[in-house]
Amino acid sequence: MNKNTLSRICALTLSVLPGIAWSSELGSGGYEPSWSYTEQDSWGEITDDGVTVKPPYPYAVCGIGRAQSPVNLADAAQAKFVNGLTIWYRWAPLVVENNGHTIKVDSPSGKLFIGNDEYKLLQYHFHAPSEHVIGQTKFPMEIHFVHGAANGKAAVVGVLLKEGRDNPAFQSILDNAPETKYTTNTTGVSVNPRWLLPLRLNRFYTYAGSLTTPPCSEGINWYVLSDPVEVSAAQIQQFQQLYSDNARHLQPLNERTVSRRSR
Ligand SMILES: [Zn+2]
Repeated sequence: MNKNTLSRICALTLSVLPGIAWSSELGSGGYEPSWSYTEQDSWGEITDDGVTVKPPYPYAVCGIGRAQSPVNLADAAQAKFVNGLTIWYRWAPLVVENNGHTIKVDSPSGKLFIGNDEYKLLQYHFHAPSEHVIGQTKFPMEIHFVHGAANGKAAVVGVLLKEGRDNPAFQSILDNAPETKYTTNTTGVSVNPRWLLPLRLNRFYTYAGSLTTPPCSEGINWYVLSDPVEVSAAQIQQFQQLYSDNARHLQPLNERTVSRRSR
């Protein structure tokens, strides 16, 4: 099985959500060309591997989208009316995938409630360095908790990681992360992703953005928590041995505003 086939199968786990083109497989010919961070400024022009494709290219949105992620959160406006987040994450046996671009925890158990919307936690994964930045402040890592609702809405909760104390939940994930790309490790070790979140969940930045990897689909509601979570320098290093530069460059805000909730 080649890596494209494998990445398509990974994408299929997200295809239950009708509202978002999680992968170019949905509603298209099934192209999901390989991509890399080193060529990220031309993701929009990638054609399929060795196959002649006419525009629109599979990842065109990465290049022409006006609501792309990540962004600099520094210019956020204080929000008066933004719904808070209620997060119910549960213990679940770890299924850890090395998908060629990141370390991803599949089949977690959890729910996120925002206003009247109920989301299911679909997966979470890691970036080093952080993708979102606050002014000049970039963090060594960032976690993305990806959620989908039955009505097709999608929400990603971003957690910025800073150097400090050792995080046992992160250590379990690191210790079970496959070193070989395109492999998955199904374990009997249970982790509750709640321990990867800060105590205060109602201080966050929110804006309308996109997936930060191809196909860069828009319509994603972002919630980047204001309080970073500590992980140790050794843990950051352990992750960097697998992925040391899997972050997308900052994208222009264009017509968007970032709101900040501080209560
Ligand atoms: Zn991500």
